[in-house]
Amino acid sequence: MLKLYNYKDLTEQKIEELCSRKAEDDNLIFSRVENIVNSVKTDGDVALLSYAEQFDKVKLSSLFIGKEELATLAKQIPSAVKSAIDVAYQNIYKFHEAQLKTEAKIETMPGVTCWREARAVEKVGLYIPGGTAVLPSTFLMLGIPAKIAGCKEIVVCSPPQSDGKINTYIAYVSTLLNMEKVYLVGGAQAVGAMAFGTETIPKVHKIFGPGNRYVTEAKKLVQNTVAIDMPAGPSEVLVIADETANPSFVAADLLAQAEHGIDSQAILVATSKQMIDDVILAIEKQLIDLPRKDIAAKAIENSYIIYAENLNEAMDFSNAYAPEHLILATANFETLIPSIINAGSVFLGNLTPESAGDYASGTNHTLPTSGFARAFSGVSVDTFLKKITFQHLTAKGLQNIGHTVEVLAEAEGLQAHKNAITIRLKEC
Ligand code: NAD
Repeated sequence: MLKLYNYKDLTEQKIEELCSRKAEDDNLIFSRVENIVNSVKTDGDVALLSYAEQFDKVKLSSLFIGKEELATLAKQIPSAVKSAIDVAYQNIYKFHEAQLKTEAKIETMPGVTCWREARAVEKVGLYIPGGTAVLPSTFLMLGIPAKIAGCKEIVVCSPPQSDGKINTYIAYVSTLLNMEKVYLVGGAQAVGAMAFGTETIPKVHKIFGPGNRYVTEAKKLVQNTVAIDMPAGPSEVLVIADETANPSFVAADLLAQAEHGIDSQAILVATSKQMIDDVILAIEKQLIDLPRKDIAAKAIENSYIIYAENLNEAMDFSNAYAPEHLILATANFETLIPSIINAGSVFLGNLTPESAGDYASGTNHTLPTSGFARAFSGVSVDTFLKKITFQHLTAKGLQNIGHTVEVLAEAEGLQAHKNAITIRLKEC
């Protein structure tokens, strides 16, 4: 069951330990991933086919499913799921489309104009997890912003099912997004394939998407070759609850996170001891009925509860932990918003479960985990764009800025830089 700590008793070192998501076998995972990525780099498709047999227990006849077969599979989707995906698609599209912005041109001095224009990353790779659960929602979360940004080539990898196909939900999303094919590759080998390219899978410029520890470690490993969105690994939630929270709702949110994987973390920081007791009881009650109760129970063992005397202490701990998901199950959540410094995505009030953002509110669910919310944002249209800066000088502009540049170039001992100005000033 969940371990319980009193915030007042925690030393700095203990807080650091509680905020660290390091697992004992990190080195083992790293060396396994290094081997997998290296063998994909040298053996290409042969390695991918062999890993599909080893990890996904399937002998593949093809490493991808093409557009026609995707359309056939998509037709088999149950109509209720199809309608739900359609609603989620629209909300996610609406929220992300609004992120496209044109920036103003700025005249820094008379005749000197500077501006930025966005261009899509041309070739992107999307990883759609599919190990313990198939996540069409992640396909929407990555595919929609990639399309809005205008990426030219979108490579999609997802682990094959035991029949060597992908499930109908993934197929349906791929038709919604008008994808050419889905590659049947999972884990670290998918990341290696998209980073280095194989006979079948094209090399991309940037890799996106969450996944288990193998996927996340592989993304970190290939960063010398290819850009990545962020390290988005095993999921985590931190719930701040005051005495007005509903213990059953809080328990449901913690378990929703815990069922992702055994290495997920579900943290409760509560300002009421009664609330803590009630949440523990509610977790025990709700856990029994979950189909993934074994996974959730193991994740709960990795998790803990902190008793804080007030919401300031609770927020201090949350900012130190930098959760991927932060739920404020408190009466006055608005007043807490300014003190949130580190978090991936925030869920406000008792009626806003994380599940809403996981699937359909419109925000993106590919978010930084393991404390990376201290420095990274979740995926958005921006993650698929680069910003190119432009500047233009008129004759007046050259006269206005010329002396400043000449002096600075001379101060740095870069005579050719100075000459590039001087030679032009003589002409105007
Ligand atoms: P996955 O697709 O990430 O991983 C499955 C693959 O892992 C398999 O195809 C296999 O190739 C590889 N694998 C399995 N065991 C292995 C082993 N022993 N050695 C080497 N490779 C091995 O699917 P998953 O496992 O279900 O994990 C999905 C993860 O994504 C969960 O941890 C979930 O929390 C996380 N997630 C995170 C976010 C986020 O935004 N951070 C969003 C959604 C999901």
